[in-house]
Amino acid sequence: MAMKLRPWLLAPIIIIVLLAGLAVFLWPHYEGNVPRITLEKAPKGLGLKNEIDFQVTDQGKGLRWVRVYLRQGQKTAMLLEHKPEGPTASVALKATAAPLAMGFSQGPAELVIEASDNSLRNWGSGNLSQIVLPLAIDTTPPRIMQRSGITYVNRGGSAVAVYEIDDGTTEHGVMVGQRRFKGHNPWPDQPRAAMCLFAFPFDEPRESRVSLWAADHAGNKANAPLRWRLRWRNFRADKLNASDNFLAEIQARFGMQAPPTAAATPLAVFQWVNVELREQNHQRIAQAASQTGPYQLWSGTFLRAPGKTMAGFGEHRTYFHNGQEISQGYHLGIDLADVERSPVPAAAGGVVRLAENLGIYGNCVIVDHGQGLSTLYGHLSQMGVTVGQTVEMGQELGLSGATGLALGDHLHFSVMVDGIFVVPTEWWDPHWIQDNVLYHYEESGLPTPLATPAGGKAAGQPQAAPTVK
Ligand SMILES: [Zn+2]
Repeated sequence: MAMKLRPWLLAPIIIIVLLAGLAVFLWPHYEGNVPRITLEKAPKGLGLKNEIDFQVTDQGKGLRWVRVYLRQGQKTAMLLEHKPEGPTASVALKATAAPLAMGFSQGPAELVIEASDNSLRNWGSGNLSQIVLPLAIDTTPPRIMQRSGITYVNRGGSAVAVYEIDDGTTEHGVMVGQRRFKGHNPWPDQPRAAMCLFAFPFDEPRESRVSLWAADHAGNKANAPLRWRLRWRNFRADKLNASDNFLAEIQARFGMQAPPTAAATPLAVFQWVNVELREQNHQRIAQAASQTGPYQLWSGTFLRAPGKTMAGFGEHRTYFHNGQEISQGYHLGIDLADVERSPVPAAAGGVVRLAENLGIYGNCVIVDHGQGLSTLYGHLSQMGVTVGQTVEMGQELGLSGATGLALGDHLHFSVMVDGIFVVPTEWWDPHWIQDNVLYHYEESGLPTPLATPAGGKAAGQPQAAPTVK
C-alpha cells in the first residue's frame, strides 16, 4: 500500500529546508572577526592642538563605522565619526583634538577609539572593538633653561650647550636658524640635566638665531634663549681648472652610474657627480651619522692623521674648463696627503656606522663618537673595519688612496655634528676642547658624560636617551 503524503506534514519540512538554506546563506554575514585598531604612536598626553593618527582594519565584512571620543569625568565629546560608503577593509584616519577649546580641563582624561563592522552579530550591530587610552591633558609648555655660561661658536664650528629640562620633556636640543640639533641626557642620576652638541653651519646666514628648544609628551613646544656669541670668519675661495684628462678620468669612474641624461659627455658626467651625486652621498652620510647614543665615546684630543694639509674646510671651489665656469662646490673636510697607502687611524674611540664605497668619497668609513659627533675618512684604497665594530683612538681603519672624486692618494677627513659638516681643526686642539666642551660640564657641576658602568651600556648599538620621568 502506497504511503500518502499529507500536506500538513509537508509545510514544516519546507520551512526547515528554507531556514537551513537561509542559515547557510547568512552564515558568512555572522563572521566574528573583530576590527583591529592600531596606533603607530599612542599619545601620552594632549596639548593645545593634537592630531591622532590611527588605522582600523577588518578581516570580515568590512568596517561599518569608526568613532573617537575624548572623555574626562562626566564629560564626553566626539572627535571623529567615520562611516565608509562601501565595503572597506582598512582605513587610515586622523582625529584632531583641542581639549581646552572643547571645555576640558588640565588633568587625566581618556581617549576612546571604537569601531564596528558589517557582521550581523550582536543582533545586527556588528563586531565591536574599543581601545581606551589613558592620557593627560597638559597644555603647559615645557621649561628649558641654560645651565652653562656663554657659549662661543665659530662660523662652521662646533659648540656644546648644557641645560635643564622639565619632567615630561621628550625631545630637546639647540636650534640654529631652521636646523634642529638633538640633545641628550647622559647623566642617569640627574635626569633633568641635558646637553646638546651643535654647530653653526658654514652656510648658515650670519643673522640666524640660536636658541634652546624642547617638546613634551603632549606635543607642547617651547624655546628658550641661549647665551652665545658667534665668531665670524671667511673661508677660502679657489679656482680649479678641470683638464680634458681630469674629465675623462671622472667619466671613466662615474659614467656608468650617471643617469642617461647626464652620461652624454665627460663634462656632463662631472657636473652630475659634483652636484647630484654629492647631494645623494651627503644624504647617505647624514643618515649613517644619525645613529648615535647619549654618551661621549671619545676622550682626550682627536688624532690628526699624519700628512700635509692639501685643502681646508669650507673652501669654495669654482671649476673651469677651457676658461668657462662649469661647476661649483664646497670642500667640507680637510685633505691630508702622506705616503701612498698610509694607515688611516681612527681620530677617537667610537663605533663604525658606515664602511662602503660612497660616490665622491670613494671607499669611506664613518665612526660615531656619541652624542651626534662623528668622523669621516674618504678616498681609502682599502677598508679594514665593518659596520657595528667598536674602534679605539688610533686604531687602523684602512689605507689611504685615491678612490672616488680624487686623483692623487690622500685622506679626506671630515667631522660632523648631527650630520652637519664642521671645522675639523677644533677637535684636534686640546685647548679648544677644554674651553668649549669640557669646561661647560665643569661650570655646570656635571661630570664629563662618558659611558660609565653606572651610566649604563658602553659603545655598541645606538641607544635611546634615558627617559625623563
Ligand atoms: Zn677632500
